[in-house]
Amino acid sequence: MTASRIDGKAAGVAVRERVAKGVRAFEQRAGRPPGLATVLVGEDPASAVYVRSKNRATAEAGMASFAHNLPDTTSESELLQLVADLNADKRVDGILVQLPLPSHIDEKKVIATIEPSKDVDGFHAMNAGRLATGLDALVPCTPLGCLYLLKAELGDLSGLDAVVIGRSNIVGKPMAQLLLGENATVTIAHSRTRNLEEVVSRADIVVAAVGRPEMVRGHWIKPGATVIDVGINRLPTDDGKGRLVGDVAFDEAVEFARAITPVPGGVGPMTIAMLMRNTLVAAHRRAGLADPE
Ligand code: NDP
Repeated sequence: MTASRIDGKAAGVAVRERVAKGVRAFEQRAGRPPGLATVLVGEDPASAVYVRSKNRATAEAGMASFAHNLPDTTSESELLQLVADLNADKRVDGILVQLPLPSHIDEKKVIATIEPSKDVDGFHAMNAGRLATGLDALVPCTPLGCLYLLKAELGDLSGLDAVVIGRSNIVGKPMAQLLLGENATVTIAHSRTRNLEEVVSRADIVVAAVGRPEMVRGHWIKPGATVIDVGINRLPTDDGKGRLVGDVAFDEAVEFARAITPVPGGVGPMTIAMLMRNTLVAAHRRAGLADPE
């Protein structure tokens, strides 16, 4: 068996086109476009690239983009004040504070200060709790993108055995909640899990969100399973540019899986697409409108 590749790039483009349509419809009803504010503190090059592409995608979707790029000397209280100002700004529907923050700033405090209805990253405890209790929530973008790809591939996930490897608040835990919401039978594995290979080999769905290059081996995968590889790991190469690989040994896993996301080109493009979607959803909810399609 050779697995099909799940094309996250194409799926991401489709989601962003639908969001752009939704943006135009929202603007007609609300008299203003949805707005996303990004906050970047410091000079971390990877974070700067992420934030720039988020700003570009926001503008491409027809939304208002408010970019706040602050020096890494910014104090915690200055950042908290900016978040408070964005909470109060009626043009802003979504607030994204790019993580990680410089070490002198308490990330938890900053996330807790974001107005939950504008928390388009879905990291606020209010949104995590709402997701866990089955209420409307803003859900973290990466797991939301993974779920979109899984449903596009498999349709109904009801009764399927799913293993999520990783239990971070950003990916693993919300992924497990989403799969539970789709009536999958969910196992969450982590660094203390015993016999991970055996746990993975039972699963119809494997979501790997670990951050360890090619840790999940091909022969662990149950024949016919669907594999979503969230990991982004850079391996050194002779030319110094490095090579991106996932948490799954892709070349091995294609021999066992039914479908698998490549790295890059799988989950990554879905994350930004879902950020756009979350901002559109937040704008609708804040304006008292039903969620967009
Ligand atoms: P974290 O480091 O926060 O979490 C990693 C998880 O993996 C932890 O729960 C950890 O367990 C678990 N883990 C570590 N080692 C092992 C092991 N040997 N066996 C089983 N589980 C293990 O990472 P994130 O969740 O933030 O990110 C995971 C990966 O996804 C990273 O590569 C990151 O770059 C990528 N990522 C990609 C995104 C995208 O857009 N494509 C977005 C976000 C992340 P424990 O809790 O016990 O320590």
